[in-house]
Amino acid sequence: LNKTAGWNLTHSYAKLPQMFYTPVDVQPVAAPELVLFNEPLALEIGLNPEVMKSAEGVAVLAGNSLPKGAFPLAQAYAGHQFGNFTMLGDGRALMFGEQLTPDGRRIDIQLKGSGATPYSRGADGRASLGPMLREYIISEAMHALGIPTNRSLSVVKTGEQVRRQTMEPGAVLTRTAASHLRVGTFEHASAWGSTEQVRTLADYALERHFPPCSESDNPYLYLLDKTAERQADLIARWQAAGFIHGVMNTDNMAISGETIDYGPCAFIDAYDPKTVFSSIDRGGRYAFGNQPKIAGWNLARFAETLLPLIDEDEEAAVEKAQQIISGFMARFDARRLVHFRAKLGLKEEHEGDGALIDQLLEILLTEKADFTNAFRALTFKEVTEPALEQSTAFSEWKETWKARLAKENRSEEAVQMLMKQSNPAVIPRNHRVEQALHAAVEDGDYSVLYKLLDVLSDPYAHSKTQEAYTAPPPASFPPYQTYCGT
Ligand code: AMP
Ligand code: MG
Ligand code: MG
Repeated sequence: LNKTAGWNLTHSYAKLPQMFYTPVDVQPVAAPELVLFNEPLALEIGLNPEVMKSAEGVAVLAGNSLPKGAFPLAQAYAGHQFGNFTMLGDGRALMFGEQLTPDGRRIDIQLKGSGATPYSRGADGRASLGPMLREYIISEAMHALGIPTNRSLSVVKTGEQVRRQTMEPGAVLTRTAASHLRVGTFEHASAWGSTEQVRTLADYALERHFPPCSESDNPYLYLLDKTAERQADLIARWQAAGFIHGVMNTDNMAISGETIDYGPCAFIDAYDPKTVFSSIDRGGRYAFGNQPKIAGWNLARFAETLLPLIDEDEEAAVEKAQQIISGFMARFDARRLVHFRAKLGLKEEHEGDGALIDQLLEILLTEKADFTNAFRALTFKEVTEPALEQSTAFSEWKETWKARLAKENRSEEAVQMLMKQSNPAVIPRNHRVEQALHAAVEDGDYSVLYKLLDVLSDPYAHSKTQEAYTAPPPASFPPYQTYCGT
């Protein structure tokens, strides 16, 4: 091949003080085999798919060789895991640079499952195939739904086995992100570094994610404020899509406002705010309905790291930060209203919209209705949600909703258009994801997975081919459990 892969790597993160990372070496795997490759994403970030899918490109995606200009490192960070503070860091990931994309963005290129690092804490640094395929499916589905997220570029089978409950095929996932700066990165700086090191990190975050911050008279308060603003919208989008992150530890909250860390996440079928899928979340800390509150809690931990920068006077700093933290729920509620109004075809802001939405959700809960399909049923006369068929509460609610719609004086077509754009036909349903993973991992049959990815790539298409993917899990599908670190 006479073409170049298109790497255009830079290293702004590596210019941060040593405490923020450790340089690492790649650890080649036995027999790399490309099983998933995201061509649209590759093109978007300036890579040549043809070269990337050749042996030369796959070697890079497997962590067997480095592209020109790479500087591999593992990032250091800390975090509150289920409320407990601890040192963490990339235990099975390496970033080899930031790609400058043709459209002028700077994005991290990170391999996951690439081998142990100084932050592995005794674990193997590897990843197994099923969970990497799963992360690819769900992160790309999130992107297609319009929810800010890191992206998946590829999955490579390593030809090696990893020890989990059983021996499983190993894999390396390559992902891209606006950055991997986390609340936990700031906690790391604050716990073990000087105020100047926190400032260096904060300046870096501002420059990378929130330019031009120079207009603000208190840039560090601005950083907190803007981060809170993005999280308010992100979590509101999760709630509007029925997405449970599952492990909202502070190390898994990105300053960029993207969704990161696809471990135990999953989408709800029947609506219930108490829903928990993660096997380790016994107390329901990260239950669906708790996500806004937890985001606020995480932001408070973020705020604490910034206090010395916000004001020299500690009391004044606390007071300024507290305003943003205590305003978070109101901010979230406002964004939630925006996204749920759209789901109901509403454009204007009317008093009582919040109550209208809450009443509907209450009915979905009582009737154990499917969340996604209930909104589809409101969007399309032809679609029904069986759990709501007999519900008088639901038919009464629909009358209230119609009266509310009538106040806007918009055409039925315009209303339906907005609803079609706001209510997906398909989400990565747990039983469909499991079916695709089973075929791929157990039988080496990727056709089920490819089909699923295709259907999920345009969730608002409401096309004929998607219909088969709209069904909730069959009664035979066992209660769903998800896992971390697999
Ligand atoms: P997570 O639950 O994905 O946020 O991961 C928490 C921490 O565990 C991070 O520091 C990961 O890098 C680390 N970790 C998870 N799985 C492994 C593994 N197999 N080997 C090494 N570190 C791991
Ligand atoms: Mg993590
Ligand atoms: Mg994880």
